[in-house]
Amino acid sequence: MTIVLATRNKKKVEEISRIFEGYDICFVAVDSFPGCPEVEEDGKTFRQNAVKKAVHIARYTGCPAIADDSGLEVKALGRAPGVFSARYAGEDSNDRKNLMKLLGEMRGLKGEDRQARFVCCIALALPDGKCKTFTGYAEGRIAKKPKGFNGFGYDPVFYPSGRRRTFAEMSDAEKDAISHRGKALGRLCIYLKNTVVN
Ligand code: IMP
Repeated sequence: MTIVLATRNKKKVEEISRIFEGYDICFVAVDSFPGCPEVEEDGKTFRQNAVKKAVHIARYTGCPAIADDSGLEVKALGRAPGVFSARYAGEDSNDRKNLMKLLGEMRGLKGEDRQARFVCCIALALPDGKCKTFTGYAEGRIAKKPKGFNGFGYDPVFYPSGRRRTFAEMSDAEKDAISHRGKALGRLCIYLKNTVVN
């Protein structure tokens, strides 16, 4: 069976292929289908965006497709930046600008008001439009200043619950074991191994 991944990132394809070594599934990136139009991520929730992308690609390619959407939610900011995480500081934003904007918005907030969580929603769609989603969360709090150089996005200001190091101070493997993406991927893997593959 072939499953199309809504990513152009070869590392993501290699990662999921490793997890399914020995199973009869071949993962391919969406680049293998030239001409597949990009989808606008205009949903109000991570789930809506992930489902929209996965359903679109499954219909276009005729193969099952997997897509994800993720971001950061800060309780005291009404769950912002949420689905706007990648462009929080505007259209020409980058990781650094987004992170500095977040720290600016949270200036003066203390204790529970610094609570936040990362969310990742993965959607698995079939060519007939049927779709299933798998969500993972990483609870934590936002630091007062950035620490660490690994990872990406808001990692330097995110302390996962019970840890004294930010995601950006952890190795990839350490972060994957507790991250929102790691958890969502774990749920998807259990589902695929138990249902589709057997
Ligand atoms: P997307 O799911 O690739 O669209 O990610 C949306 C945005 O959410 C990213 O550009 C980051 O700003 C943020 N984000 C999602 N996951 C993480 C993470 O694991 N660490 C840090 N930032 C993240």
